[in-house]
Amino acid sequence: MTLNSGAAFRNHLRRKASVNRLIHLLLFALVAACAPARTGSAPGPARLALTHVSVVDVETGRLLPDHMVLIAGNRITQVSPSRQTRVPAGARVVDARGKYLIPGLWDAHTHITYAGEIAFPAYVANGVTSARDLGGRLPELLAWRGKVKAGSLVGPDLYLAGPNLEGAWWLDGVMEFAATDSILRSFPFLEASPRYRIASPEGARVAVDSLLRLNVDMIKFRNLRGDEFRALASEARRKGVPLVGHAPGGVTLAEAADSGMRSIEHMETVMLKLGNANETERRAQLAHLARAGTAITATLVTDIAYRQTPDSLAYAVIADTLNRIDLRRRFLSRELLAFWKFGLDTKSFEGPNDWAASHRKQLADLRLAREAGVPILVGTDLGVSLVYPGFSVHEELRLLVEEGGFPAIEALRGATVYPARTLGVADSVGTIAMGRQADLVLLDANPLEDIRNTQKIRAVVLNGRYLDRQVLDRLLSEAETAAHR
Ligand SMILES: [Zn+2]
Repeated sequence: MTLNSGAAFRNHLRRKASVNRLIHLLLFALVAACAPARTGSAPGPARLALTHVSVVDVETGRLLPDHMVLIAGNRITQVSPSRQTRVPAGARVVDARGKYLIPGLWDAHTHITYAGEIAFPAYVANGVTSARDLGGRLPELLAWRGKVKAGSLVGPDLYLAGPNLEGAWWLDGVMEFAATDSILRSFPFLEASPRYRIASPEGARVAVDSLLRLNVDMIKFRNLRGDEFRALASEARRKGVPLVGHAPGGVTLAEAADSGMRSIEHMETVMLKLGNANETERRAQLAHLARAGTAITATLVTDIAYRQTPDSLAYAVIADTLNRIDLRRRFLSRELLAFWKFGLDTKSFEGPNDWAASHRKQLADLRLAREAGVPILVGTDLGVSLVYPGFSVHEELRLLVEEGGFPAIEALRGATVYPARTLGVADSVGTIAMGRQADLVLLDANPLEDIRNTQKIRAVVLNGRYLDRQVLDRLLSEAETAAHR
């Protein structure tokens, strides 16, 4: 979530001794109480056979017509042409003739604690079976991650960053400002999204260790100085934990990629980092990302929702308790709507900017990045106004194709195999192959012909569990009920 004004609340910080330490202690206490086991998974039905289905092989880009996909428990045990395979006795058979099977989708950039548990059914109903949570309240996230793993909560597998690392120069400025500003005081944003304050290179190294002990899956940073970033990157590499963040200050994109960052968040931060460099230099910098396998999470949908939509419309949606403007509002918690409003209110801190031009520049750099071979991830930045849990993943897919000029298969890779690779879990999720976790989406129409077809969801297989349309609709209506509570 953006909070771009450079100001902050230092007095407040001093008064509270160190908010960071407080958060730290709180996290430790809670985590000790509820740390889930990372192993083990929910048992699915004994056997499931999807027959006569067209499988989208996201790695090769090929369509495999008339295939059978066998699932035992939560694993895919076979993917082969129907005529070569017999349905095992006792298996539940789903005749998927005329349908298309894609791997379960990812939201590679989300903040679920802003939305609350109510976001989970919306994610699953939209075929999202994995999510990278890039900042939020870790105790809640860890508890959810554990419940999803144990099968007691229907939701995507969560990969967690926990609290974002934030440079003291930035955080202290914001806190100093917030002590006196009525907008910033109107919303407990640091409680909603705790930050880990970094004041030195040594602090950055210590942070890696502390967060790993809290059981995070990756480290996410935002505003750091060059020396802090270098210390952080080398420590993350030494500990083997994926590092993600905004394009870092104080170093070039090339250095960020070469130092092992797994993904850079928001096309906007990449575009700003490249500044006024000419096209040759831009391509050269982006080529480093491609070589290092560093991905970019474009978040075009965020830019459209937050920057290219009139604030008046966003405020109107928030106030629209009858959900007449956008039906998807039915699935939102009050907390999320309050956070949307806060995000919009903070725009008053910004000076004027030509946001339409900014969007065009992002698209131009996105094209260069794709041509350079940089993996582009599908992420939504849930928490930002008019970004909807689950639904916006499909919007991002569509935008990558329609605005970014991506072939449909390349957009799909960004929501399947690429995010799995950035976290080093591509041997278990992200593709449809023997041995993979059974996370699948069954579609009524071919997504390679029209990317909008990812929205025509017939069924979702979540960790081996077959959820047909009826079940998915029931999940959505439960979310709607929860939203009105
Ligand atoms: Zn974010």
